[in-house]
Amino acid sequence: MATFDAVFVGSGINSLVGAALLARDGWSVCVLERNDVAGGCIRTSSDLTLPGFTHEVLASWHPLFTGSAAYAELKDDLDLRGVEYVNTDLPTGAVFADGSAAFITDSLEGNVAEFDRLAPGDGAAWERQFNAFMANADLSFGMLSTELWSAAGLSLGRKAFRRLGRRGLLEFTGNTLVSCRDWVSETFESEAARGVLAPWVLHTGLGPDQATSGFMTQVIGAALQLGGMPVPAGGGVRLVDALVGIVTDAGGEVRLETHVQRILVANGRATGVRIEDGEVVAATRAVVASVTPTQLYGNLLGDSEVPAGVAKAAARFRYGRAEMQIHLALDEPPRWKGADAERLALCPVVHVTPGLDGVSRAVNEAERGLLPAEATIVCGQPVALDPSRAPTGKSLLWIQLQELPAGRLKGDAAGELDTADGKWTEELREAYADRIVARLGDSIQNLGAATLKRVVISPVDLENLNMNLVGGDIYGGSCALDQNLLWRPMAEAPAHETAVAGLWHIGASTHPGPGLGAGSGYLVAKALTRPPVAQRLLAKLPGRS
Ligand SMILES: Cc1cc2nc3c(=O)[nH]c(=O)nc-3n(C[C@H](O)[C@H](O)[C@H](O)COP(=O)(O)OP(=O)(O)OC[C@H]3O[C@@H](n4cnc5c(N)ncnc54)[C@H](O)[C@@H]3O)c2cc1C
Repeated sequence: MATFDAVFVGSGINSLVGAALLARDGWSVCVLERNDVAGGCIRTSSDLTLPGFTHEVLASWHPLFTGSAAYAELKDDLDLRGVEYVNTDLPTGAVFADGSAAFITDSLEGNVAEFDRLAPGDGAAWERQFNAFMANADLSFGMLSTELWSAAGLSLGRKAFRRLGRRGLLEFTGNTLVSCRDWVSETFESEAARGVLAPWVLHTGLGPDQATSGFMTQVIGAALQLGGMPVPAGGGVRLVDALVGIVTDAGGEVRLETHVQRILVANGRATGVRIEDGEVVAATRAVVASVTPTQLYGNLLGDSEVPAGVAKAAARFRYGRAEMQIHLALDEPPRWKGADAERLALCPVVHVTPGLDGVSRAVNEAERGLLPAEATIVCGQPVALDPSRAPTGKSLLWIQLQELPAGRLKGDAAGELDTADGKWTEELREAYADRIVARLGDSIQNLGAATLKRVVISPVDLENLNMNLVGGDIYGGSCALDQNLLWRPMAEAPAHETAVAGLWHIGASTHPGPGLGAGSGYLVAKALTRPPVAQRLLAKLPGRS
């Protein structure tokens, strides 16, 4: 029987980072992945459309990773293994219905000038809000990088209290609850300033009218200015290969096409896993599962191993809106229309949107089970950053649609498409993509003529690619406040340590949630390698380092 110190279920970014950190610390680790490629949502493909085009099938943008504690710790190793990030000074823009555009740059001066162009005074408003955010950025980013349900979470709270006082802390907490609509509306005069920010809440799994979406908008605004929009040269596969290399060079294993069927528990302690063919892989120190709560508590563990309250809460765990990807291989670079065409061509992420109200309307339609009439089109242009992704002179687009109903389709808000059987058929998938591409063609003049090949990935296809994307929810569960922060995945199991000794839960469904920041994998690796309390106290004695 193969035996390791730690066995990871799934090979997403959190598992790979956790396994790499443990491997560097001398642990023997094994990562088990049911797919035929490692990386989970990082999936780079050279045969998705046409030869010479390198597509990120799923996740594409790495600011959360390059800004993470995991990257800071692994950077030297990743550099040696050839992971090189390329970046831009113009991370994002938005194109509105009248053809005008707005941008966010990577500098304070750039953003003050840009927001002032949109409305006099909005530049000063950007500067004020940025400075106010940065004054407590350690607390804000700390909420998103600390194990909140732990002594570390408590000490973050104490630090906030010492700095801000009772009233200040109340104000700070209130500010984290504000909606994007309320925050952008009271901060900026211009609809364009509101409209360039509002679509970003979709990337946090929220909508602009939900609690905490205003706080997340502030986090993203600051992150865009501070971090730009980095991607790994050559694609996310470079990062995945490097992390796998760290594990295997240390003697660990990353096994593909290996579906974990059961987590084995003896005397209340996780002892390993059983895979599909019946083989047991034993874990002497930890089993780390990067799966949804539904799978963990509903399938991988037996009824008697899960406290009844946890099992009930896991069965109630909600999944969020569904998503769709459209990939286009282009014969030439996209030519944007309008006065800002040149700047738009340089932006890695352009939102084509009617603005704040448009995002709100499309989210609301999706929440009500409808295909939105006028979706927010996330138009990604990776070639603007990394020319190696397409043959010379050609280009590609990574298009994302984040406002689709979770579960059964109830209709089409535009009253055009047939959703009678409530399911994503191939015809419906292509028809909806036709609507999106036609709208994008209003902003990109050569889109139709330049398109060489199109591949569309529906919510159903997404779940087939990664079983953690339940119903096409790319964020591993609704990110509404009652399932986020201290409550992620659920109040009955708020941290990564579970009720089963030696079993840890990581991944997008757990705090700090989705994205490529690898937060949960990092936190668990740190918890597992933390010296015992006595050793930590001894290390603090005079004369010891
Ligand atoms: C289309 C799309 C676009 C996105 N874009 C971005 C982006 O640009 N930037 C960003 O920061 N984030 C993005 N995200 C979100 C981000 O990619 C995810 O939140 C993150 O990658 C999830 O990582 P994870 O560690 O939870 O594992 P996942 O990536 O979900 O991987 C989990 C792995 O576990 C495997 N698995 C599950 N159950 C088992 C089992 N029983 N046995 C064996 N293996 C199992 C699955 O096959 C999968 O490979 C995007 C996500 C999607 C889907």
